[in-house]
Amino acid sequence: MLEKRLFLSPPHIGAKELTYIQDAFSSNWITTVGENINRFELEVCKYTSSPFGVALSSGTAAIHLSLLLAGVQNGDEVICSSFTFVASANPIVYLGATPIFVDSEKDTWNMCPELLEIAIKDRIKKGKKPKAILLVHLYGRPAKLREIIALSKLYEIPLIEDAAESLGSTYEGKITGTFGLMGIYSFNGNKIITTSSGGMLISNNESLIKRATFLATQAREDTVHYQHKEVGFNYRMSNILAGIGIGQMEVLRNRISKKREIFQFYKNKLHGSTFSFLEEQNNTFSNCWLTTILCNGIQPELIRLRLEEYNIESRPLWKPLHLQPLYKDAPIYQNGTSENLFLNGLCLPSGTSITEEELTNVCSIILACK
Ligand SMILES: *Cc1c(COP(=O)(O)O)cnc(C)c1O
Repeated sequence: MLEKRLFLSPPHIGAKELTYIQDAFSSNWITTVGENINRFELEVCKYTSSPFGVALSSGTAAIHLSLLLAGVQNGDEVICSSFTFVASANPIVYLGATPIFVDSEKDTWNMCPELLEIAIKDRIKKGKKPKAILLVHLYGRPAKLREIIALSKLYEIPLIEDAAESLGSTYEGKITGTFGLMGIYSFNGNKIITTSSGGMLISNNESLIKRATFLATQAREDTVHYQHKEVGFNYRMSNILAGIGIGQMEVLRNRISKKREIFQFYKNKLHGSTFSFLEEQNNTFSNCWLTTILCNGIQPELIRLRLEEYNIESRPLWKPLHLQPLYKDAPIYQNGTSENLFLNGLCLPSGTSITEEELTNVCSIILACK
């Protein structure tokens, strides 16, 4: 057994983060305004080629604001990927709206465009046109954007990209998160880069980001005294955490290369009749945030338990939201794909500080389970 637990995707801090935190302390800008925030927003926008962005307290907060800005209201319906973390859908409920879940396709595990169209048509037939499409790029794999954007345009339903797991992944050369009306990133501790906790909302539309910034600062009007006409939120990122973010942006490219090496290592060692891997689609580039395997003829839980004996963390894939007790009553347009993935898949340790020795060790333990 390892003395030190090998985690799935722990934070990996670089050399400069503390310096930027120190700047925040030295200047006494330790709240939710300051140079680190401005600079972090600028760095993320530059990297993603997105003209506007606002740093927020979490990815969940970013999704909440994006839906609000897309005009989602009480009683509305919002289409959402089913195969994802619960944070993708919860903000729909914050607004009193109903998530309409759409299952995955097999190539990228993301929202199936054919099912999406079926869902849109059916909801319209039932009397309610969905207010937005919340599309997730899961595990850093870009979804079938061309098809989904075409449907978003055809039916005039705004697209919001949950790119929490896919910062740096590209589709036809363009960064995921920048295709829709708005996109969101998460900088939670387990993501490809972290600010300990945090998120960002990006858009090509300046007025949307201005309004998001306003709403994220308690909707405080521009007056000397505290004047309020609307309900707002306390959703801004702290200037201290933004300092971590600047440091992390400096190492993002390295982190992506390392994540891709980890994926390639596992694939070289494990790929075969028992274990299969997601292939990178043409014209896409994945940040390979987590390496996942599909098991054929062996229970992933057996592997998980065996790795656990060695103090190595692995985890089942996301449980589809339509299978969650929380969302058992929500409409679902399904084809069985995500359920099958959940039953047969496993996430492997993919932290960027993992060593070749550790990877080799994980692979031998897995191979011995066959
Ligand atoms: C992490 C994550 C979120 C939420 O981000 P937080 O910063 O943790 O609020 C949303 N969607 C997906 C797909 C995620 O993985």
